[in-house]
Amino acid sequence: MTVAPFHSSKNPGVYHVCSNCTEGNNIESRYKTQGTGGGRLCKNCKELQDKGKC
Ligand SMILES: [Zn+2]
Repeated sequence: MTVAPFHSSKNPGVYHVCSNCTEGNNIESRYKTQGTGGGRLCKNCKELQDKGKC
């Protein structure tokens, strides 16, 4: 499902919006930060959204 944008403070530049994004879920909780961080939407999240599987 779609959640509020979040990104990794360790690897900024990409943000996630899907709770089921594997990449987003790989972010360690200590680096998980709310907001886009000024990055771009994750490819994986975009694909999930396009398929309606986010
Ligand atoms: Zn993602």
